[in-house]
Amino acid sequence: MIDLHCHSTVSDGALNPAEVVRLAHANGCTMLALTDHDHTGGIAEARSEAAKLGIRLINGVEISVTWRKGTIHVVGLDFDETDQPLQNLLAEVRQGRLNRLETIAAKLEKKGIVGAYEGALALAANKEMVSRTHVAEFLISSGHVKNKAQAFAKYLGDGKPCSVPHQWTDLASCVNAIKGAGGLAVIAHPMRYGFSATAKRNLFEEFKALGGDGIEVHSGTTDKNDRLNYALLAQRYGLLASCGSDFHRTGDYSGGILGACPELPEICKPVWECFKAV
Ligand code: AMP
Ligand code: MN
Ligand code: MN
Ligand code: MN
Repeated sequence: MIDLHCHSTVSDGALNPAEVVRLAHANGCTMLALTDHDHTGGIAEARSEAAKLGIRLINGVEISVTWRKGTIHVVGLDFDETDQPLQNLLAEVRQGRLNRLETIAAKLEKKGIVGAYEGALALAANKEMVSRTHVAEFLISSGHVKNKAQAFAKYLGDGKPCSVPHQWTDLASCVNAIKGAGGLAVIAHPMRYGFSATAKRNLFEEFKALGGDGIEVHSGTTDKNDRLNYALLAQRYGLLASCGSDFHRTGDYSGGILGACPELPEICKPVWECFKAV
């Protein structure tokens, strides 16, 4: 039972790192990567809990990347989290988040919703990693929307009235930082970007040429057919296959069960076969 993509309160998840590890373990997980957005601050706590429970903890992070004017996510796995160039890149990627929050809050204010800046920050356990999820939670708690889906559909989703285009890092810098720290770079949830077949081909070819390692063949709630499609794409572009629940909280939009991913299609070359020996 392997899960190489999930979140804690260090980014926009609901459980703290130790709770994430405990729930994954309770769900039968034997190998887990905690992949908070743009931050590795939860790894130490997760590792010590994993050691107590006898589950293997893989260092992880989910990095926000701007590719062709849109946002994609790249998961880094099995890297040295003390690597300074990687930490510098993560700090750089996070830097813009407060400025973006200010702009989002200003746009919400024009719609008559006040206090989003302070409101979202107050809901973020880690003030270094405030995300749109925290803004969505503020919109719910202040009674402006019923749930997160509505917050993203009405205000915060890409292209919606209060969305703010944001410049993250670029794909080459991201791959270089992960590889430089001895890790493996994996494109997160490629099925969620709404890319055409051509865009996917361009992304996978470019990623591979930059030294990228793999793609998530399973994310969240893929079905067998999705997994086979992405397994074939991984095979075509010479990429390894990863899998992750993208768990944030129970009953969330990404929907995967923490710690329990379905089996990958047989043609896959699993990314974990390339992890450093323990
Ligand atoms: P950010 O990195 O701050 O732009 O926030 C993106 C995060 O918002 C994602 O990692 C998801 O956890 C969350 N998110 C994105 N779209 C939705 C949605 N439609 N419903 C709920 N959460 C979402
Ligand atoms: Mn998230
Ligand atoms: Mn993501
Ligand atoms: Mn994620």
